[in-house]
Amino acid sequence: MTPFDASADDPAAFFQPSYRVSRERLLEAAHALSTRLPVLVDSRSIAPRGPDGETLALDWVSFGARRPRHALVLSSGTHGVEGYTGSAIQHHALATVLPRLRLAPDAALVIQHANNPYGFAWHRRVNEDNVDFNRNFRDRFDPTQCSADYEALYDCLNPTDLDPAREAERWARIDAFIAAHGLRRFQQAAVEGQYRYPEGLQFGGHAQAEGTRHLLALVREHLCDTQTVIWLDFHTGLGDFAACELITGAPVADAGYAFSQQVWPAGVKSAAGGESVSTPLNGLLDRGLAAALPGRARFAFAYPEYGTWEPMRVIRAMRLDNWLAHYGDRHDATGRAIEAEMLEAFRPDSRDWERRVVTSGAELVAQALARLPGASH
Ligand SMILES: [Zn+2]
Repeated sequence: MTPFDASADDPAAFFQPSYRVSRERLLEAAHALSTRLPVLVDSRSIAPRGPDGETLALDWVSFGARRPRHALVLSSGTHGVEGYTGSAIQHHALATVLPRLRLAPDAALVIQHANNPYGFAWHRRVNEDNVDFNRNFRDRFDPTQCSADYEALYDCLNPTDLDPAREAERWARIDAFIAAHGLRRFQQAAVEGQYRYPEGLQFGGHAQAEGTRHLLALVREHLCDTQTVIWLDFHTGLGDFAACELITGAPVADAGYAFSQQVWPAGVKSAAGGESVSTPLNGLLDRGLAAALPGRARFAFAYPEYGTWEPMRVIRAMRLDNWLAHYGDRHDATGRAIEAEMLEAFRPDSRDWERRVVTSGAELVAQALARLPGASH
């Protein structure tokens, strides 16, 4: 399929086979669309390469105004491997929305492809430094920050071997923790973000990652004149199979929270406010963006979170992936099985799931465009 294959009316067909192919098709589509809309491509590469030796880059591809007053941004791959889904929704927009979108001279639609290109290309959720990109958006880092629950469960969450007897003992301790405190408190401990252990799960970093600095620079440069910014950053792995929840890091009292509720009729749920399937999290992308945008800009933001499998299966996959990165060999049978399970946890091998998430994502994009001044389609 090419991005402009009008016969591709199966939403699942917008899923791409790899980061590399997704990026190549994005750049081809941008070139083709430049005959009807002004196009700006700003690619910021990071140091590592992909599995085929390919360049890894954050690609900011803007259609419409060069310095927009009103912008809709669709971003993907904040959590690496989750980028299969976000990019499928982006390719759907490239093929079906942008060929007929009408934009006023002060409006733009931006495709921000692969916030964490390393994780997308290598099928990890984290970046090249084992950092969770969506825990890395902060100005100050405290290398002692880590919850008491994470400390207590450290060796259960971060095994140094997969010896069956020791693994059984670790899982027994996790089960006992859940029996005593509940699954939600375990989820909170496992995923909220910690800043103490670079080799541990959910490490938020000791400084802003290269990709984080690139993304904030892109926003400061290209959205510096904005009055309205609507942003969708697509995620997977939390919630019921193919169900969508719109999550925001904004507190309920934040003006952006109220604007987000207006943009998406399904409503946005605040992780900080305890309304969401997500527990409160540290160092979130949307908090970093809110600080980087002009103070006057109205900012609606949502992380559409598409459910895959049950939470413990997803956490198991992340835990094994972290073991593999530090102690395993991705080329042996165990390594390949763990990589396949990571993919399944964040991009299930199901055409029905793919169709449902692309259809849902397209609807969220249409709702955002309906609220964007200067856009009609
Ligand atoms: Zn995610």
